[in-house]
This record gives sequence, structure tokens and C-alpha cells, in this order.
Amino acid sequence: MNQKYLEQYARLIVRTGVNIQKGQTLVLFAPVEVAPFARLMTEVAYEEGAGNVVVRWEDDELAKIKYLKAPEEALENVPEWQKEFYLSYAREGAAFVNIHASDPEIMKDVDPNRIMKASKAIGTAIREYRERRMNNQNRWCVVSVPTAAWAKKVFPDLSEQDAVERLWEVIFHTVRADKEFPVAAWQEHCENLKTRRNFFAEKQLVSLHIQNSLGTDLEVELPEGHIWLGGSEFSPDGVEFVANMPTEELFTVPKKTGVNGKVVSSMPLNHNGSLIENFSLEFKDGKVVHFQAEKGYETLKNIIETDEGSSYLGELALVPYDSPISNLNILFYNTLYDENASCHLAIGKAYPVCVKNGDKMNKEELEAAGVNDSLTHVDFMFGTEDLNITGKTTDGEEVAIFRDGNFVI
Ligand code: ZN
Ligand code: ZN
Repeated sequence: MNQKYLEQYARLIVRTGVNIQKGQTLVLFAPVEVAPFARLMTEVAYEEGAGNVVVRWEDDELAKIKYLKAPEEALENVPEWQKEFYLSYAREGAAFVNIHASDPEIMKDVDPNRIMKASKAIGTAIREYRERRMNNQNRWCVVSVPTAAWAKKVFPDLSEQDAVERLWEVIFHTVRADKEFPVAAWQEHCENLKTRRNFFAEKQLVSLHIQNSLGTDLEVELPEGHIWLGGSEFSPDGVEFVANMPTEELFTVPKKTGVNGKVVSSMPLNHNGSLIENFSLEFKDGKVVHFQAEKGYETLKNIIETDEGSSYLGELALVPYDSPISNLNILFYNTLYDENASCHLAIGKAYPVCVKNGDKMNKEELEAAGVNDSLTHVDFMFGTEDLNITGKTTDGEEVAIFRDGNFVI
């Protein structure tokens, strides 16, 4: 792959992604398969002023062995040191980068209940860390790097080597690492997203009606004081950062108890190495009252039944059908990429920063404001080429937002 783009990509993540500050610790979660990239990022992070770079290796193959063979207690027991790892770095103000590159089907022979038990245990143990991220108290960034297994799933007709090469090209392109000035290109991109955010800020819609021919017919109320985000965000100390690279979405929070109707998925969902396909959810007053899936039903059921909040929604995001990632016409089986090619919703926890002063509210205040809470946050895609979305303002005026899959504002 192109060495120059590779370095530009690493630098982009450190600068524009988490915007590392002098002396700040960077914690990097990286699959063992992408060790060379993790080393490059470490080097670049020190050059950009990081005080310390801590890499935590992840290994799906090893995780799979544990899911298949370990006694149940080993799955549910989260040792203190592990909890301390996340919390101590979070509390000292570290920045976090996650490299997502899992083989979409690696866990297909694993009992989804065992995965759910393990992820619930870790989710509970490090809740404070997750909340700090979702409140932007710690700057964070999620990116992807090709692995052989993932690349082959995306480009099954290519040889392993060619598939990896092609996936690198696509990644460089979508994250603008192949531009002459990638950091400047991102500033421009974030400015463009801001224009639409300003439109929504001005309109303060009370609800959105979403429809397409797949069978989606959903009414989504938006809570008072909701905020549309997209592109760059700010940590409380006023430092700008970009939490997802790539990112094309504008997103906000649906009112917890204000979702009614049906939504039909438009892409498979890779959740922790298991695929869920052709599924739909039905809502009454925000709560999932019925769901089905042609494939991966158990995994979907486990997501929805994680806790009280996981049968409610936490995010509504708009991505035009005609947009850079969508136009590639590639199914990535990787939520970071697929969610930026399609309108999506998330089951579970909402971003408190999506309502005014939400980052300063306690649990009860967030609940009262209509902001859902859960251990989980799982995005799934519903955008299609014929998607229509109509908004309603406080005085009942209807505003066309999407027609035939694209923004009309
Ligand atoms: Zn999203
Ligand atoms: Zn999300």
C-alpha cells in the first residue's frame, strides 16, 4: 500500500481524530493483525506531542477460544486490574483510539448468549469509562484498518493480498488520507456538515416521519432542546475532535418514549463477529414491542434484551443515499463504514451531548429529558434509495427533509 498515505492516515487520526495535546496519554486499542499500523501510530503520536502511548492488543481468535471453551465464570468475571486500566486512563484525561477491523463472521459458531454475558459484564464494569466517552469528557476516535479476513469478506472475488490492497485504497479515499492536505480537507468537510446542522438548529423540529418501500414507516419524536451533531465535536476543555473517521452522518437523539411504527433494516449488521440480516423492529411509545430477523435472531434478541434501555432507541442519524461512501456501492460488514453510507438508528444508549446541557445532567434528568440510557449502543442501517423523511415544526408546519434517499434542504 501507499506508504505516504499510510503515514498521512496515522497523522490524521492523531491530529484531527483525537487531536492529541502536548503531554497527553493516548490509549490505542488495536487488533494484533494490524500491529505494524499500531506501531506507526505510536510513532506519529509521540511526534505530535503525546506524553505516553499505551497500546492494548485485541485478538478475536483468542476471544473466540475463550467464548467456546472457558467456564462461564471466566466470561463474567472482570478483574479489578482490567477495570482500573480503563478508568485510570479515562480519569487522567487520556484520548482513546479504537481500530475496528473484526472478521464479520468470526463468532458464527459461538453461542450468542455467552458473548452477551461477557459483553454485559465488561460493560457494567467499565460503565464510567463508556459514559465519559459518550459525554466527550475524553476525546476518542474510531477508525478501521484492513485485516485479511475482513478484506476477503468485502471483496470475495479478489485474492487475499489484492483484497487487502483494495480495502486500503478505499479506506485512504474515504478518510481523505489520499488528499494533498488531509487535515485541511477534514476542516472543509466538517464545515459542510455544520451548514446542515445549522438548518436543523434553526428549525427545532418536533418529529420526523420516515418511510420507504422496504416497509419502514416510523414516526420519531425529537426531545425539546435536542441538538444535531456531525463532523467535529468538542471536549469540555474546548478542544475540537472527530469521533469517527470516516464520518458522513448528522445525528441526534430520538425522544425515548416518542418512537412509533416499524423500521426495516437495509443492510446486514455485524455485531461482535455475528451477522444479523433482514430484520425489522416495531415500536410503541419508544419501546420495541416486536422484532424479527431472517438471520441472527438470537444475537438481535440479546442486544434488545441487554437491559431496560436496550429496547429503546438512542440515536437517529441521517446520511444521504448519494454520498461518498454510499456511492462506492460496497457492503463493508463493518458498522463504522456501513453506518456512514446509510441512514441509521441505534438501539440503546443515547449521546447526552445531543440535548442542551445534557453532559451536565444526572441519570434522572437525562431520563426526564427523553435521553435513553443503556449498557449498549448498536447502530443499524435503514437508509434506501427511496427513503422519504418529513419533519414537523412546533407550529405543525411540514418540512421535506429527505426525498428519494437524499436531503432536499
Ligand atoms: Zn451514527
Ligand atoms: Zn451510533
